[in-house]
Amino acid sequence: MKNHDFNPESLMMTYGYKPELSEGAIKCPIFQTSTFVFKTAEEGKAFFELAYGLREKSPKEELGLIYSRINNPNLEILENRLCLWDKADDCAVFESGMSAISTVLLEFLKPGDLLVYSNPVYGGTDHFIHHFLDKIGVHTIGVMPDQHMDEVIQMIEDSGKADQLAMIYLETPANPTNDIVDIEKFSEIAARYSTEERKTLVAVDNTYMGPLWQHPLQCGADLVLYSATKYIGGHSDLIAGAVLGNAELMLRVKTLRTFLGNMVSPHTAWLLLRSLETLKIRMDQQTQNAQIVADFLMNHPKIKNVYYLGLLREGTEAYTIYKKQCSAPGAMVSFDIEGGEKEAFMFLNSLKLMKLAVSLGGTESLAEHPKTMTHAGVDPEQSKRMNITDQLIRLSIGVESAKDLVWDVEQALEKVEIKNELEVEKV
Ligand SMILES: *Cc1c(COP(=O)(O)O)cnc(C)c1O
Repeated sequence: MKNHDFNPESLMMTYGYKPELSEGAIKCPIFQTSTFVFKTAEEGKAFFELAYGLREKSPKEELGLIYSRINNPNLEILENRLCLWDKADDCAVFESGMSAISTVLLEFLKPGDLLVYSNPVYGGTDHFIHHFLDKIGVHTIGVMPDQHMDEVIQMIEDSGKADQLAMIYLETPANPTNDIVDIEKFSEIAARYSTEERKTLVAVDNTYMGPLWQHPLQCGADLVLYSATKYIGGHSDLIAGAVLGNAELMLRVKTLRTFLGNMVSPHTAWLLLRSLETLKIRMDQQTQNAQIVADFLMNHPKIKNVYYLGLLREGTEAYTIYKKQCSAPGAMVSFDIEGGEKEAFMFLNSLKLMKLAVSLGGTESLAEHPKTMTHAGVDPEQSKRMNITDQLIRLSIGVESAKDLVWDVEQALEKVEIKNELEVEKV
């Protein structure tokens, strides 16, 4: 028979792990150790030469285990498995999503550089851009969801810093509104401002869709970032992050990680290995459930708008980008309830199965109010422009029975009293 390429979901239980190195254990043990014993002093020297880039790797040589801030079997196996989903050369796992994001921004930006980023971005990323990058003299331009490519180019030109454009940072679909941007088009803009000496990089936060339903590296991005706390971890019991890209860029990311010391712990890496085994079935179930919940919300009289990729209408620009870039609509559903904060809170306080909490991507469904919770720190004018209003509610759909989820949403909506339009007419 001919060679066969296994799908990533088939490799998540075994790839990169050698039982014979661990007493034949079927599962990779937790390598709860800080340091590793060298066979000889010569071996220790050779490992350090590679770790510190003092010489080139010889063809068959691999970096040996040194110290758990630099490498550890749990981290390495996890990183190798994550590479399969995004078809990346290399991966670095971090102690949080923010740690992954801030390390990438610190490694590839320096004072005087220009960063273009899409709005809205995750609250923590927004804070890092406005309060930290600003402080060290990185210039930033935020692109709004309703702005077109020619406007983006105009803003870059008008900034007077076009020749310093070091990075385009995208979050698509965006949290919490599911706005999407065209990764390929932004990669074309990056190519336009790249020079011989300096390639303008495109980094994409793929937390909402990845690693299953969208592969930014295949759309022209240079780096893909995750909060692994979300779908990759998937059980709301850990905090972690990941970055993937080509070997050259990842060497830089991993080197900075070594010196910031913000790698994930062996125990958390082990939990993530366990999570990866069920990643595909969890995410498949979550997106199926989300479509059913979104369809229900769409036809409910107390709901004004539903923001879900599975409800985009053919012929719209968003639909075209969605079809090009994503293989499923995901499991994040946002909607505007009739009324305002009072009605939104009534809904949230009446849920019986879904929990009222921030975060997303876990096996349990969660509901929250972005304007007063996850996005409370965003400038009010900008929030309004991005559709983050009193009426907006965000749901992260889990693996429960879709019938139970619809029942829960329906009964919670029943409890919401909306000032009757008939009463208004009577006045
Ligand atoms: C949660 C989240 C982050 C931050 O990740 P942490 O693991 O909480 O540090 C970044 N981006 C997006 C889109 C997120 O949802």
